[in-house]
Amino acid sequence: MTSTALLESLRQIVGTTHVLTDGDLTAYEQDWRKRVHGKSLAVVRPGNTAEVAGVIKACAAAGVQVVPQGGNTGLSVGSTPDQTGQQIVLSLTRLNAVRHIDKDNLTFTIEAGCILQNLQELADQQGLLFPLSLAAEGSCTIGGNLGTNAGGTQVVRYGNTRELCLGLEVVTPQGEIWDGLKGLRKDNTGYDLRDLFIGSEGTLGIITAATMKLFPQPAAQLTAFAAVPSMEAAVRLLGLAHQHLGAGLTGFEVMGQFALSLVVKHMPQLRVPFTEKGADMGDEAPYCVLLENSDSESEQHARLRFEHLLELAFEDGCVVNAVVAENLTQAHDLWHIRESIPLAQAEEGLNIKHDISVAASRIPAFVEHADAVLKREIPGVRLVNFGHLGDGNLHYNVQVPEGEDGKAFLRDKEALVNHLVYEAVDAFGGSFSAEHGVGALKTDKLEKYQSPVALQMMRAIKQALDPQGIMNPGVILSRA
Ligand code: FAD
Repeated sequence: MTSTALLESLRQIVGTTHVLTDGDLTAYEQDWRKRVHGKSLAVVRPGNTAEVAGVIKACAAAGVQVVPQGGNTGLSVGSTPDQTGQQIVLSLTRLNAVRHIDKDNLTFTIEAGCILQNLQELADQQGLLFPLSLAAEGSCTIGGNLGTNAGGTQVVRYGNTRELCLGLEVVTPQGEIWDGLKGLRKDNTGYDLRDLFIGSEGTLGIITAATMKLFPQPAAQLTAFAAVPSMEAAVRLLGLAHQHLGAGLTGFEVMGQFALSLVVKHMPQLRVPFTEKGADMGDEAPYCVLLENSDSESEQHARLRFEHLLELAFEDGCVVNAVVAENLTQAHDLWHIRESIPLAQAEEGLNIKHDISVAASRIPAFVEHADAVLKREIPGVRLVNFGHLGDGNLHYNVQVPEGEDGKAFLRDKEALVNHLVYEAVDAFGGSFSAEHGVGALKTDKLEKYQSPVALQMMRAIKQALDPQGIMNPGVILSRA
């Protein structure tokens, strides 16, 4: 089938207005960080599962490759077409229906293109909680969250997207529809196909709908901001928080002082605690921690438990200063500081991002080691270290040294920086991709750091489900 014939049949399946070939398609053809620019044959926007199946059947018959795309906020270049102009970008954003809310089963069944923030609001309107939360929630879709097994800020209590999912509907690379939307909490009937598709980054099939868990809303939620004397102290505080808040611990984020100083510098309207005398508390508190305590009883109960925890932490010496938000506005402001770090980094200039995880117990030693290696090998390096410490997940980023040309630094040093960081992660038994996925960006890292046996199984799965290789080629597994 020629490209012209394929486009004509796609127009018949989804309607002429939903096959985009002209005009400015940049929003679909470049990645979120605007570092990779592709060119598609067309952007196709189906409106329901049957149309997705029709599109995939047509593409399979024509041997044309498909790049599934949700909000295109992914950070691993997994939803960007290549440069050939021969791939179809399959945008799922029109699949945005809420199919069913089952309050007794504490689930809702929603289509892949639903925006995460809309789902949180929907749950809220039902007096329930959908806890998946990340800074891109206003644009990312649940299909993309499932495709990447996204993490975010509540993982310490509720788990990654995988733990929130009870069932999927998937269009296979052959255009068949698998309905796995039973919404069961127990179902041991053979291989777990749901978990295979979650985190597969669009390489095994298209997720068109999902049944996701909902939770009772907490009666109260309190946020604290604590200055800690070391990363080791931050991990000790995490242990105390687990012990004394139990399931009430719903957020535990760490922020290095340099990361906070960038927020102070570039977002002067935000009031960062403990920085009245300047952004940096220096040796006294090289890190701050943001803790969230959700309580099923009352605000008073939450406050008492939180204050007790902080008293113990002061006694222990793992906290040197702390504030507890008095109200929701203050809590929101504290979270806003944490969520502003990536933007502050961008304002400061070019940087190299890493999304790594190491067992929480090993993080202090990892950070000490990695900091020392980077400072030794790259004079003037500026480390922007922050992240979801409760899950052992750090965004261990490297800012271009002050006064250096960013582009030249990236050209000359990015590979070295990545090598140093990932070698350190590997030495500490960690992962080079904690929550952002492999995408097309880190396929070489997968080859290097994943075990040969695991790689062999991954290739066998890909070959079995997508023998034509039309689903998001070059993502997770390199083309070779
Ligand atoms: P896209 O970017 O469109 O796609 C991501 C991947 O999923 C691609 O491989 C794509 O092919 C595949 N895909 C998309 N839809 C489907 C589908 N329906 N079926 C099959 N495959 C599909 N991530 C975190 O985990 N935690 C964070 O805290 C976090 N914070 C972020 C903050 C910012 C400011 C930004 C920009 C991003 C952040 N991310 C974070 C990364 C990103 O938001 C997540 O990866 C998100 O889950 C991507 O959703 P999306 O709809 O934008 O997917």
